[in-house]
Amino acid sequence: MRRAGVLRATLAHLRQAAAAFPDALLLLDARGRLRWCNPAAQRLLGLSWPQDRGVAVSEHFADTAVGAWLRTGDEDPDDIEAPAAPNLRLQLSALPFGPRGRLLLARDVSHVSRLEQMRRDFVANVSHELRTPLTVIHGYLELLDPQEVPALAPVLSEMRLQSQRMREIVEDLLTLSRLEMERHLPEEWVDMATLLRVLRREAQALSQGRHRVVLVHEARLDLLGAPRDLHSAFSNLVSNAVRYTPEGGVITIAWRATAQGAEYSVTDTGYGIPAEHLSRLTERFYRVSSSRTRASGGTGLGLSIVKHVLNLHQARLEIASEPGRGSRFACTFDAARLRRARRS
Ligand code: ADP
Repeated sequence: MRRAGVLRATLAHLRQAAAAFPDALLLLDARGRLRWCNPAAQRLLGLSWPQDRGVAVSEHFADTAVGAWLRTGDEDPDDIEAPAAPNLRLQLSALPFGPRGRLLLARDVSHVSRLEQMRRDFVANVSHELRTPLTVIHGYLELLDPQEVPALAPVLSEMRLQSQRMREIVEDLLTLSRLEMERHLPEEWVDMATLLRVLRREAQALSQGRHRVVLVHEARLDLLGAPRDLHSAFSNLVSNAVRYTPEGGVITIAWRATAQGAEYSVTDTGYGIPAEHLSRLTERFYRVSSSRTRASGGTGLGLSIVKHVLNLHQARLEIASEPGRGSRFACTFDAARLRRARRS
């Protein structure tokens, strides 16, 4: 009797703990039917307990972002609309539970999502506001003739250089803001043969004969995507390879078929990157060596733009590098985005 009493008390405690839990908890059976949920699941997901016991959860949420995630089994979303309240944002995850069941967790991340939105708006607004005054300053600097005041010529050329740098940073920040706000880019079939030729020409122009530029066009495949953004991502990798490879190095631009789809890669025989930096390279303004970067004239936003463009194409960026030997940046695309090239 005493043991039954202890067990009852323990169970009541566990129920109270689950009820007090701020995250929604749902237990699903092997067929995806609701076995149990806590009160937060009712508040965040609009489920009714015990009325909804046994409902097929993916059908129940069929027309919502939650339903789409359950159906596709995509990566766990970290910011989607709550089915019960459109002003709430949720982070979802699914864990295996018991022999074939699943535990779904939904966390209210509205506060974080709002802060993130404020950050995005702030960066976009500041960049936008800076654009006009910078254009005016740059325009006047261009008008000034250093020949007229030779003593000021070095100052003038430094001012031009710095104002151009500021303009590039502002343009890159605006590009990043736009990419962050878009959920889908307008897409079309991109003729990779033409794009690769353009990229090779750009590499040669940037290199000015200081490197050997090799094009390996193996995959006769076109790519479904946003042409302008793909070009900007691919050419960022090319420009990095040129800027971080000393004279005499080799830069290889390649488009190859893989088991899962295709891969665009840029390989260089340049300075390379120490392993501890690799995971942070796509952060805004992250630099391995500030002195070398400043000398090479980047904005520090290139790889961040690359990552955003690839995310919008469900593609991945893989980076391999060895200090002193060189680096390889590869963008991998799924087969769903590829078709046999119409032209070559
Ligand atoms: P940046 O404008 O500074 O080049 P990126 O975001 O394009 O900004 O790159 C971030 C940093 O990653 C660079 O500052 C540089 O240190 C490193 N990096 C990028 N590409 C290469 C490369 N091909 N070889 C060596 N280092 C690289």
